[in-house]
Amino acid sequence: MNYEEHFIASAIAGFCRNASSQKQRNNIIDPKELLLSTGASILGGILPDKIEPATNPNHRNFAHSWMTFGLLSLGENILQKNENINPNFKNLLSDVSLGYKTHLLMDATTPKGLPFIGRIS
Ligand SMILES: [Zn+2]
Repeated sequence: MNYEEHFIASAIAGFCRNASSQKQRNNIIDPKELLLSTGASILGGILPDKIEPATNPNHRNFAHSWMTFGLLSLGENILQKNENINPNFKNLLSDVSLGYKTHLLMDATTPKGLPFIGRIS
């Protein structure tokens, strides 16, 4: 997968999740929140290849691993349950996580797949 594919997929994921969430909450779509959420998801979507650039076919390690996918999901779950954190901030972090996980799922569909844990460098 290349940069543009990750950018577009994470943008779509963030856009759809926020539009759906706003529709459920108040039935009115706030374009500013939608744009912010989409941007946060894009940031998450390009992050794995910023951490582990695709400089060789074996570049996928911890940042591109199933372990990271699981830790992000767990962290997101813990974050959402914490009532001391601003809900908008929590949603923004969840959008970054969504974009990141979208990237990992896309990379998982390639022949190289994802390592379970990978090396931490
Ligand atoms: Zn990648």
